[in-house]
Amino acid sequence: MLKLFNTLSRKIEEFVPLEKGKVGMYTCGPTVYDYTHIGHLRKYINDDILKKTLQANGFSVHHVMNITDVGHLTSDSDTGEDKMEKGASETGRTVWEVAKFYEDYFFKSVDAVNIERADIVCRATEHIGKQIKLIEALEKNGLVYVTSHAVYFDVSKFSKYGELSGQKLEDKEVGSRSDVFVDKSKKHPADFVLWFFTVGHFKSHTMKWSSPWGEGFPGWHIECSAMSMEYLGESFDIHTGGIDHIPVHHENEIAQSEGATGKQFVKYWVHHDFVNIDKEKMSKSKKNFLRVEEIEGKGYDPMALRYLYLTAHYRSEMAFSFESLTSAQVALNKLREEVRGWEVGIFSQSSKDKFYDRFLEAVNEDLNVPKALAVVWEMVKSDMPSAQKAADLLEMDKILGLELSKVIGQKIEIPEEVQKLVDLREKARLEKDFERSDELRGEIKRLGYEVLDSADGAKVKKV
Ligand code: AMP
Ligand code: ZN
Repeated sequence: MLKLFNTLSRKIEEFVPLEKGKVGMYTCGPTVYDYTHIGHLRKYINDDILKKTLQANGFSVHHVMNITDVGHLTSDSDTGEDKMEKGASETGRTVWEVAKFYEDYFFKSVDAVNIERADIVCRATEHIGKQIKLIEALEKNGLVYVTSHAVYFDVSKFSKYGELSGQKLEDKEVGSRSDVFVDKSKKHPADFVLWFFTVGHFKSHTMKWSSPWGEGFPGWHIECSAMSMEYLGESFDIHTGGIDHIPVHHENEIAQSEGATGKQFVKYWVHHDFVNIDKEKMSKSKKNFLRVEEIEGKGYDPMALRYLYLTAHYRSEMAFSFESLTSAQVALNKLREEVRGWEVGIFSQSSKDKFYDRFLEAVNEDLNVPKALAVVWEMVKSDMPSAQKAADLLEMDKILGLELSKVIGQKIEIPEEVQKLVDLREKARLEKDFERSDELRGEIKRLGYEVLDSADGAKVKKV
């Protein structure tokens, strides 16, 4: 039985979908104005784990993810510039070129860590009509007002506002008072924009559409309500995001969706914690981020990053360091080496024995992947026949996503020439001639192989 922490109830709950056997899941996707960094990847890897855990529990998952390519301002509370337009003016490209470039970069990054694509990837700019329709429905329900600057959602008319984050409206007022001076006609600081007019500092905004209220572009939050309900229905099971989305973005999504339909929007809200670097959140704005190609450039396999992220629970912060990435790389290499010699094929399917049961039990405990990983190692080191281990591990890897099927049973044939160099290197190493040993390591690498030193002697792998 799968249990998940639901931000809405602030409790771990048993997962019961709205429709038997089926799950609708929506993921807030990237704002494509800058590079995807490894902090983002933790969030998308954890979503991937959640989706695969649901599948392992027999659910069929319909997964939708948006791409924000318009309307997300440099502050979540509708102040500042549009991130896309800013990205364009800084690089001398059009907003459309910026969006395309960073969307491609996002997919390249998620592919590198083996994240499965959502069934539907939807762009905000391709769903403007749906967003306008939703604003019209809110207007009909009396939840909207218009100023010379924008069309606003009136939070005072939505009694459940603040339920997700547990914040009272009065507290919000204090938190964002400066915001009220941006548009003097805005009634409450927590009111948020549904539609911006291309006036004032948005006059030269290049992305704009006509609407019943005037020419402009949508606010950031409306796209997620419009597109999630378009593809998953007015009520669906799971909505994910980073914890930064709880107080503003997701609170606003609930207000917009439930304000229009009168039905519960989402049953389970799942939020992931951050990756920090030097005790600060890794972020685009702080410019303290690392990209996946940067860690690759330093000689790490992107899959070591995935392994690293499996070692922390999704609801706890993770401090990134190269030391921890090195440990993850070593552990992953070791796992690959262990499984390479296993036999496969005798047990065509996992017997779903005690190890697999314990593994699934751990992931089903609010995605306790670190605990599940400990079961993996216990099984690897056990005296179970290797073909049985292989079958089990392949099943477990459907959730972990470490691509172990590429290595299980794939003993590598080492050419004689390479083996000779390996032996010479081992001799040099034992004689503590480290200079010679490093030289030989370089020669071996030029031939396409890598030597890994382990407690039971040198092991060789193809690079
Ligand atoms: P953005 O493209 O900046 O809107 O971020 C996309 C998603 O990545 C959001 O759900 C953020 O919460 C998440 N995110 C951003 N920075 C980090 C980080 N350092 N660690 C984990 N998740 C992050
Ligand atoms: Zn969203």
